[in-house]
Amino acid sequence: MSAYRTESLPVVVIGAGPVGLAAAAHLLERGLEPLVLEAGDQPGAAVRSWGHVRLFSPWEYDVDAAAARLLEATGWELPDRDALPTGAELVDRYLAPLAATAQLSGRIRTGTRVVAVSRVGVDKTRTVGREGRAYLVRTVADGRVLDLTARAVVDASGTWGQPNPLGAAGLPAVGEAEAAPWLVGPLPDVLGADRARFAGRHTLVVGMGHSAANTLLALVELQQDEPGTRVSWAIRGRSPARLYGGGDADGLPARGLLGSTLRTAVQAGHVELHREVTLTRLTPTAGGQLQVTGTGRDEAPLRLTVDALAAATGFRPDLDMLREVRLDLDPGVEAPARLAPLIDPNLHSCGTVPPHGHRDLAHPDEGLYLVGMKSYGRAPTFLLATGYEQVRSIAAALAGDVEAAGSVQLQLPSTGVCSTDLGAREAAESTGVGFATGSEHGYSAEGPELEPEPAACCGPAPQPVSIGAPAAGR
Ligand SMILES: Cc1cc2nc3c(=O)[nH]c(=O)nc-3n(C[C@H](O)[C@H](O)[C@H](O)COP(=O)(O)OP(=O)(O)OC[C@H]3O[C@@H](n4cnc5c(N)ncnc54)[C@H](O)[C@@H]3O)c2cc1C
Repeated sequence: MSAYRTESLPVVVIGAGPVGLAAAAHLLERGLEPLVLEAGDQPGAAVRSWGHVRLFSPWEYDVDAAAARLLEATGWELPDRDALPTGAELVDRYLAPLAATAQLSGRIRTGTRVVAVSRVGVDKTRTVGREGRAYLVRTVADGRVLDLTARAVVDASGTWGQPNPLGAAGLPAVGEAEAAPWLVGPLPDVLGADRARFAGRHTLVVGMGHSAANTLLALVELQQDEPGTRVSWAIRGRSPARLYGGGDADGLPARGLLGSTLRTAVQAGHVELHREVTLTRLTPTAGGQLQVTGTGRDEAPLRLTVDALAAATGFRPDLDMLREVRLDLDPGVEAPARLAPLIDPNLHSCGTVPPHGHRDLAHPDEGLYLVGMKSYGRAPTFLLATGYEQVRSIAAALAGDVEAAGSVQLQLPSTGVCSTDLGAREAAESTGVGFATGSEHGYSAEGPELEPEPAACCGPAPQPVSIGAPAAGR
């Protein structure tokens, strides 16, 4: 095969999450051939693992328009647009039926992990003759390595598989690997399958995103039925004000309610809050517990003995598999360089983002894109609606429809409290609220008395810039 004869090759989409499947739907509409490779045993595998958690976005924002067109041809109907699905419902009522459509089912390979992406016949250093070459996508399925070729690659593999470590400086705390039996992930099913693990026990939650809030509130609910259940919460910042959030001013009311309910639980003493925490060491005790050592406020020594530790410290993208392609990433945010300033958590804590499409997501290797949650790198504020517009634009670009590709449109609800509403000092200290996945180590703005600003974000006027890419059914 000539490395340059790519017309007959598929566009490989990495990951059958909401954004990967939406990419496939848009590519099909554009007459391009998608091949979706999914590491998990089913489409939506990452969402399934937090299936017990309710989204903050109502159905209206959760469904891609091209995906809806495929589904509607089968008689599918958009669930109540104002209702909030759980992750499990998002899979059962949307992603699974979408993946089962006649158009997509034969174009998705589950149990297939992408381990590397390169260009056929050349390594990363080779410039001459690079452009126009097919991509080589190395996969592992059932323990066997298989190399595939592609005309373009859309990496929608998310970040769920790469949680941030617990220690300071972005590195694991000493003993973190040995503490694995006590680490329960960011979103354990406290009131369901994992209940016995937490009932009557002491759990420490670390982090200050909505994952932390979800887990803390589930533990507080458990406390009411299970005496002796103790809940500690460690944040790196001075105040949880930002997670308490925009309350009534939040464009997604469920997200606002989460923060205000947590505030009440802390004030009532159901949750022991430790501020300005740096964790340094995790040590198993002779009694089968985990000793957590570090410092707290004013460098005071902190020592907690816990039965479980939920690290809701956010996620980072897996860039190892992209080692052999030429990327243009922001060195801090690890997002595409032109997108990064729009979402940099040092500056923005909102989910709201100006519309952006194929141009802002392009890399030196043409036809290669990071989309969805992964496109946000280490920024925690990604929203599905953003990803759906990304892949609409990219599919149009790959099909050569420059005009449609360039006309990016996006409307998002605002958070009601954003770091651009804050002073410079607070913004400098903040790494953002995290939408749902946690902000790294729970940095936050100072001042529990901080009142949320009106629902505007990331600039003087509300961010939604143009309306016109309506979610399904609108
Ligand atoms: C608890 C929680 C609640 C959220 N709530 C909302 C909400 O209310 N509203 C909202 O807009 N957003 C929400 N988000 C944020 C975001 O929209 C979701 O994380 C969403 O799942 C991102 O979709 P995605 O397709 O980019 O990635 P994912 O859903 O993570 O999908 C990626 C897929 O790629 C697969 N994969 C990973 N690595 C590989 C590989 N190497 N090879 C092949 N396949 C691979 C994974 O198995 C997975 O199926 C929430 C996130 C979390 C964690």
